[in-house]
Amino acid sequence: MAVIGFIGLGNMGGPMAANLVKAGHQVVGYDLVPAAIEAAEAAGVTIGASPAAIAAAAEVVVTMLPGGKHVLGVYGEIAPVARPGTLLIDCSTIDVDSARKAHAQAAEYGAASLDAPVSGGVGGASAGTLTFMAGGEAGAFEQARPILEAMGKKIVHCGGAGAGQAAKICNNMILGISMIGVCEAFVLAEKLGLSHQALFDVSSTSSGQCWSLTSYCPVPGPVPASPANRDYQPGFAAALMLKDLKLAQEAAQGAGAPTPLGAAAAQLYAMMNAQGQGGTDFSGIIRMLRGEG
Ligand code: NAD
Repeated sequence: MAVIGFIGLGNMGGPMAANLVKAGHQVVGYDLVPAAIEAAEAAGVTIGASPAAIAAAAEVVVTMLPGGKHVLGVYGEIAPVARPGTLLIDCSTIDVDSARKAHAQAAEYGAASLDAPVSGGVGGASAGTLTFMAGGEAGAFEQARPILEAMGKKIVHCGGAGAGQAAKICNNMILGISMIGVCEAFVLAEKLGLSHQALFDVSSTSSGQCWSLTSYCPVPGPVPASPANRDYQPGFAAALMLKDLKLAQEAAQGAGAPTPLGAAAAQLYAMMNAQGQGGTDFSGIIRMLRGEG
């Protein structure tokens, strides 16, 4: 069992670190927020004095932080003190450029590194059923696999540095666009006098079929577990969808990829957030499309 540093013990990082403890690892954590530290301690995580102190003692350091600037800041502290061969795994969702810079920072000091963002949300983090999308060298991936398996169910090696982040934002751009498409279809059906169930019965077995419809249906009824049945409590908050769509737009602009629907989806989620609905599940965008307040 390994000594694992864990930096960023928030909504996702806290339960992920707890699962590493349950798997028998010695986990030394760090966060800036006292409540996150207390919850992690209660789950069996030892708290370290600083990111540098943790990295100097750990074989593996996992980061789960809000954005690219936080990750690069922490990597600036941990990469110089990490022992050669230490593995740095960043599970945060960040922009591809920052992810590649983080890999370069690690390599400069002889540390192996992986970008390994996740999908599955807080529920998946608690249950240990996250999907990891990893980018980095094959050796780093194989070294990370048993650690990631303690926190997730599906682990995919997507390619070299930044490929995990690329997979995450491409997937979530599909999700944002498809959710809006499904919502628009339900709003049109309502205006045409077609019932939700009738549209669902046809489209869920026809060419309009997609995850946003069949697993996460944005109207109450057809899929009882979807957030629409609990007044759009998240689930996956609209603010996080906006974050991922903005990352996709940044990446598309940098790479010269035309993404007109991705841009429109980002604008619509920005509008939903501006209306004070950032904490609502992202499928709740149907209410904005209906013109409800
Ligand atoms: P969160 O805000 O709950 O947790 C982030 C934690 O990082 C906070 O506790 C914060 O205090 C800590 N932090 C910030 N700067 C730090 C520093 N310099 N040193 C130590 N700790 C620091 O956020 P979250 O929901 O846990 O999300 C974390 C990451 O996971 C984000 O990149 C997010 O996009 C991604 N993600 C979240 C979800 C979700 O459903 N919440 C799903 C998939 C991916």
